[in-house]
Amino acid sequence: MSKEEKEYDGEVNPLDNMMSQLRNAREHIDISDDIFERIRYPDRVAEFNIPVRMDDGSVESFTAYRCQHDDARGPYKGGIRYHPNVSRDEVTALAGWMTWKTAVVGLPFGGAKGVVVCDPKEMSEREIEGLTRRYTKAMRSLIGPEKDIPAPDVNTGPQTMAWIMDTYSIHHDYTIPGVVTGKPVELGGSEGRSTATGTGVSMLADCVADYFGKPLYDATVAVQGFGNAGSVAARLLDEKDANVVAVSDSAGGIYDPEGLDIAGVENHKEETGQVTEFRDANQITNEELLKLDVDILIPAALENAIGASIADEVEADTVLEAANGPTTDEANSILVERGVRIFPDILANAGGVIVSYLEWVQNTQRYSWDEGDVHEKLEDRMSESFEEVMEAHESIDTDCIRTAAYTVALKRVAESHEMRGLYP
Ligand code: GLU
Repeated sequence: MSKEEKEYDGEVNPLDNMMSQLRNAREHIDISDDIFERIRYPDRVAEFNIPVRMDDGSVESFTAYRCQHDDARGPYKGGIRYHPNVSRDEVTALAGWMTWKTAVVGLPFGGAKGVVVCDPKEMSEREIEGLTRRYTKAMRSLIGPEKDIPAPDVNTGPQTMAWIMDTYSIHHDYTIPGVVTGKPVELGGSEGRSTATGTGVSMLADCVADYFGKPLYDATVAVQGFGNAGSVAARLLDEKDANVVAVSDSAGGIYDPEGLDIAGVENHKEETGQVTEFRDANQITNEELLKLDVDILIPAALENAIGASIADEVEADTVLEAANGPTTDEANSILVERGVRIFPDILANAGGVIVSYLEWVQNTQRYSWDEGDVHEKLEDRMSESFEEVMEAHESIDTDCIRTAAYTVALKRVAESHEMRGLYP
């Protein structure tokens, strides 16, 4: 076991969760045992020891991974997360979710994920840069614009991607922007990438509103997690005149039944580092937020936010999963049983990887689209994918939209394996 390997004591292992979701879908489609045997395991999980010279002169070793899950449909694709509490199984689950995500939205990519077990909040910028560059060096032969393309995830962003691109390029003696997506725009990043996940969530909210004939105007919304995905989704829904009544981050949440001033909360978070103590909003816990009686609940933090113990008390009509893996399989069954409509992560938060794809295409073509073009392409891809998932939902015998989305994804991945055949 690696230095910091996490144990799942009573908590759901995200890999078990991902595998249950896959098996649920398999019941509704015809996939041979041979193909299923191939896609149920990741292609590889590389583990690295990353030594870093810390500011006090000492050397600290960090455990890191890159899981490449499946590349039948194209190069591996997925983010890099810096977090103190991540296991090898979790990286594998997150990589698997990327495989199903790129497939359900029809991108020519497979799935991957990288993680460094560290607490970036306790590290200086110089230490994080050292860690990033050494990690890139370790992954050098695994990644590449035609092989495996990292991107931002929890606690990483454009600056991290710039360091990865620079380190990778130095080792190849020329500049290779397409090795990562989510770069700063000045270095070949795409317009609209930094806000893409939250934008995609708000576009999906529009699709759901149209489909069910229930306008977003005045719909009450609660957002758990006020990072890159959650804060943008909250702001855009607020701009669409939905009523965002609660938001939270890891320090706790705030609630105002009359609706929060989201621009004000964003400034407050910028200044104080958290959303709590915003003006005279009521303080609530993350758990209380998840149980609020709202029209739309958006879990936008980490895995397992909605477990079986609170699923019975979730009062929202619709859940849009902006986080990866926020609902356990057991909680999902309870919610579906209770008539809650859950739009799964692999669809709801796909805006990020969709614009990553657009960035990669722009890099490959040495071309750039303006923000309007990117927005339009993202909107088309989100609404087409939504329609395909809802068609599957209408045609198979399940109330679970997640299962419907998985049938679309699984079929695409399975067909690619079938057509490519098994070598030798
Ligand atoms: N980390 C994001 C996700 O989980 C984006 C991945 C990407 O753009 O490759 O979807």
